[in-house]
Amino acid sequence: MNYERTRNAATGLKTMMLKIVQAGDPVLRAIGRRLTIEEIKSSSIQSLIESMRDTMRAAPGVGLAAPQIGESIQLAVIEDRADYLENVAADQLKERHRLAIDFHVIINPNLSFVDDTSAEFFEGCLSVEGFQAIVQRSFKVHVECLNERAEPITIDAEGWYARILQHEIDHLNGRLYIDRMESRTFSTNENLMKYWK
Ligand code: ZN
Repeated sequence: MNYERTRNAATGLKTMMLKIVQAGDPVLRAIGRRLTIEEIKSSSIQSLIESMRDTMRAAPGVGLAAPQIGESIQLAVIEDRADYLENVAADQLKERHRLAIDFHVIINPNLSFVDDTSAEFFEGCLSVEGFQAIVQRSFKVHVECLNERAEPITIDAEGWYARILQHEIDHLNGRLYIDRMESRTFSTNENLMKYWK
């Protein structure tokens, strides 16, 4: 997921950069396969996680789901770096309830809504490059999943982090934000800056 375009941080890129597929590729519409414990611990998945982390940072994005790099599996990486937030106005951070989120991996997630509170903001996607639209999302979510060591974890999130989780978990189930957007707000990034800010 990408929104609030941020400057690309100068990161030391060592692992392989993956190509991010764009809307229209059928992999984005497939339901990802759940991973077994053995698969999660395998060197191929471990190196995939590293490559996805570096690809997300290079984009830059705050989340990247495996279908976006052509792998139809239930795995996503998330990170909202403190240095990204430095480029966003304080009132915008507050309005969005956006806080820094450490890098982490979610595998085979199950998401539930905590209550019926919701929020509406523009969001974008690295697989629908150059556009954003307003999407209504639940304000609070509960996620049960596995981490990169195949350990069960639970996440209780609200605000921007809850939005990122919903966006990435949608990807694992073949859904894009354009399925949920208020279609009349669909805008190029350029026109968003010009007419909406
Ligand atoms: Zn996305």
